[in-house]
Amino acid sequence: MRPEILFTLFSPITGLPGIGPRNAKLVEKLAGSKRVDLLWLLPREIIDRRHSPTIAEAKAGEIATLTIQVGAHAPPPSRQQPYRVTCSDETGLITLVFFHAREAYLRNILPEGEQRVISGRVEHYRGDVQMTHPDHIVEPAAADAIRRVEPVYPMTAGLSPKILSKAMEAALESLPDLPDWLDPAFAAKRGWQGWRDALTAAHAPGDLDALAPLAPARARLAYDELLANQLTLAVMRAREKRLPGRAIVADGALRRTVMAALPFTLTRSQTEVLAEIDADMALPSAMLRLLQGDVGSGKTIVALFALLNAVECGGQVAFMAPTEILARQHFATIAPLVAPAGIKVAILTGRDKGAARRAVLDGLADGGIDIVVGTHALFQSGVEFKSLTAAVIDEQHRFGVHQRLSLAGKGQGIDVLVMTATPIPRTLCLTVYGDMEASRLTEKPAGRKPVDTRTMPIDRLPEIVDGIARALEKGAKAYWVCPLVEDSEVLDLAAAESRHAELKARFGDDIVALVHGRMKSADKDAAIARFLDGSARILVATTVIEVGVDVPDATVMVVEHAERFGLAQLHQLRGRVGRGEKASNCLLLYGQPLTDTARARLRILRETEDGFRIAEEDLRLRGAGEMLGTRQSGLPEFRLADLALHGDLLAAARDDTRLILSRDPDLKSERGAALRVLLYLFERDAAIVNLRSG
Ligand code: ADP
Ligand code: MG
Repeated sequence: MRPEILFTLFSPITGLPGIGPRNAKLVEKLAGSKRVDLLWLLPREIIDRRHSPTIAEAKAGEIATLTIQVGAHAPPPSRQQPYRVTCSDETGLITLVFFHAREAYLRNILPEGEQRVISGRVEHYRGDVQMTHPDHIVEPAAADAIRRVEPVYPMTAGLSPKILSKAMEAALESLPDLPDWLDPAFAAKRGWQGWRDALTAAHAPGDLDALAPLAPARARLAYDELLANQLTLAVMRAREKRLPGRAIVADGALRRTVMAALPFTLTRSQTEVLAEIDADMALPSAMLRLLQGDVGSGKTIVALFALLNAVECGGQVAFMAPTEILARQHFATIAPLVAPAGIKVAILTGRDKGAARRAVLDGLADGGIDIVVGTHALFQSGVEFKSLTAAVIDEQHRFGVHQRLSLAGKGQGIDVLVMTATPIPRTLCLTVYGDMEASRLTEKPAGRKPVDTRTMPIDRLPEIVDGIARALEKGAKAYWVCPLVEDSEVLDLAAAESRHAELKARFGDDIVALVHGRMKSADKDAAIARFLDGSARILVATTVIEVGVDVPDATVMVVEHAERFGLAQLHQLRGRVGRGEKASNCLLLYGQPLTDTARARLRILRETEDGFRIAEEDLRLRGAGEMLGTRQSGLPEFRLADLALHGDLLAAARDDTRLILSRDPDLKSERGAALRVLLYLFERDAAIVNLRSG
């Protein structure tokens, strides 16, 4: 239950002055529906009104606060024309200009002959000094009502900045004084104020420096958010670790049988990682480990070998993929490898219905099935295992800690290996998985040739098609990835379909296959199967193929409008080639003009294939604002912290979390109680449920 001290913060914004139903909708869009959401909206800019020149000194374009004498009103003959009021000081004249003004109103706020203090942007127009719609007009006695430095909030159409500021001021006035969850010495060393003062200060920046992400008030708030994130992950994790697990110590017989049938030997990196996993699974507690490795680094086989030990110990295991395509592919890889060893493998996805599904469910319930490959359908209710002991969750580049949790209900103390193909920067990794044990595959299987990556303007498309024709004659297979069009699936599709038609016209109907997100799964599979068996030689695709399609003898990757893709995405796409013995090419076609960021992205891709480096560069290039684009990826979103800038704070939050939980695992001390408030403040209520009560 949320503590009472937070009730005001979690009350609806509609209780704030000026926020009726219409404005509430707008504020909700901008920030959220609760006061606390509004408060997390920090000023983006300031308007500095400290400059108070005379009229003669006032320069065009600057914000000025002027004391003036109101002169003659000049109402226009029609409402279409501007209303002018001529004002003055001892140095000159200034004309105030209003559009669509009501005369009575203007005469009321600007009475002829009186003094007023006005503030707004100065304009020079045909030799006259002007100000159009001053932001503030007050009597000299009330001049203090004009904030000398005014915070400017992000805007949404239809919402008046004045209304927003008023509501914000009211919300700030009723801030509760929360117990401090920070270590006092730590906060003091950084010059951080208490929570309430920091929040108030963040909303009252005195100058531009105060807007910097590392300014003390903002840094403190960001730290709070990061600490809540780290603490949540650590608490959930601690709970999983407390579950009694099974020590999996196998002789490795199954593994040896499968290994003997493999056409390759494991790389040194694969062997090392497997040893780490084995040691972890041999412990009686439940394993939770991250397996990171670039596309093509050979994670699947490592994961399978890890699972084989669990099967050898008599348990059942699950292998979960993020998409239907990938699940089918993993199944196709795994089934022939393990069948000779007498292991029963099945597949279960949302597409499996009726008797087939029934048979799989029965096999899982009675223990007849040893390995099940599938999508998240595996973790739905109704799927019961006789003895699930280990699971691999292949997250590729979607991150979802949630599945891990639904899995906990399917067995006891299950050993879990989470695989990600996206090398994610250490900072991101920490926010998604917390301080979790990780294994990294750092080396690619032997024999891989580097992909020759080139970038060229898209108007050279005809040459490229000719190049593809030559490559096809030599037996190559090519992916052709169509651009993202304005985030619209419909338009993406149109682009892919028209490219498909053009390439068919040139190369022949049978040679060119098409796959996109809107196709039925069976049609998708059929298209990929044709590409795999070589009856189709070009696979035109939207980005669906980014997620793990494995056609080892494809050697050409063309990406249209590469400048519209993210760095990580392009890296994933390129990872589809360079998987076999033959040299591969990646052609990144870009439209012009290129932005600096797009140019930098393409350059990095030409320079390196090291996914970890690419990931770090990606985070650096995308910086603050675009982190919002992480919504689809499943990465956590932060309101106050910016991972590109607050990486150091995150590391500190991780260390802090370790220390906190080592001293007070159930947050029972005085600081522990304050930390519980912090978790509620950031709506990590679920974490609190996982603390031992008492
Ligand atoms: P990832 O899942 O990490 O992207 P995969 O596990 O799909 O990579 O492996 C990519 C390809 O490399 C597969 O065709 C796989 O059979 C092959 N492979 C894996 N390990 C090795 C190895 N040690 N030597 C040669 N080929 C390997
Ligand atoms: Mg894979």
